[in-house]
Amino acid sequence: MSLSKDLYSILMALARKKIISANWKMHITASQVLPYLTVFLSEMTVMEAVEVILIPPFTSLPKASEIVQATSHTRTLPLRLGAQNISSHEKGAFTGEIAAMMLCDLKVDCVLIGHSERRQLFGENNKIIHEKMMRAHDHHLSPILCVGETWDERSLGKEKKILEQQLREALCNLSRDQIARTIIAYEPVWAIGTGQTASLDQAEEMHSFIRGMISECSDETTAQHIRIQYGGSVTPLNAKEMLSGPNIDGALVGGASLDPHSFAEIVKHASNFST
Ligand code: PEP
Repeated sequence: MSLSKDLYSILMALARKKIISANWKMHITASQVLPYLTVFLSEMTVMEAVEVILIPPFTSLPKASEIVQATSHTRTLPLRLGAQNISSHEKGAFTGEIAAMMLCDLKVDCVLIGHSERRQLFGENNKIIHEKMMRAHDHHLSPILCVGETWDERSLGKEKKILEQQLREALCNLSRDQIARTIIAYEPVWAIGTGQTASLDQAEEMHSFIRGMISECSDETTAQHIRIQYGGSVTPLNAKEMLSGPNIDGALVGGASLDPHSFAEIVKHASNFST
């Protein structure tokens, strides 16, 4: 018996575990990691239905890694570690850069690529982003590929065209397995750090467009399995509504992740949709 496409999509949405990431940006020093995680973990009970990715700045990664490793056998909340950036080069004379193998050595297993702050403030274009994607995959790191339009692009009705270009150029030449291991974060630039969250309808429309693009770059099964997070001013107040979208598989949280209580609240909202 074959399932109808709609029913298949609904079943897949239920099967995709929600994934909530904390992008600490340039906040939380190494010595602040333990106090933060002590509070955060004390608020987490049994939550195997949600995945949490901590994305500290580089200098806090060793401490965060130590704690994630130490708690991995006791906790039920799957906790993963991500980095905020990666060099597109393998190794060598690149002062100030961090190589993929250095991240792997710290048991980091995912990495943000193409965050709008990297695109806008550090001149990262789609070509560099593609190179970083390849480098991450060479080392079996899961990229969290950030895509999103500016307000000007949206006002001109170009939001889908921009996303299409970002996705095609980042994902071209990737194998089906590599695309399947990628996490996508739809982050409208106008919503990041502004307090102006996209509406659920806007986010759903863009997430379903992204799924369609993944189907084109890969296939329908990969498109239904891939997880697409929403990012842009997610807080404990709006997380419940945002996470209710069938195509919204989690959140990438910046500002609200700096407080362990509010980040814990967002994770709890996600767990209600995943069980
Ligand atoms: C981000 O940094 O990716 C982000 C979404 O930030 P904020 O939650 O503060 O908008």
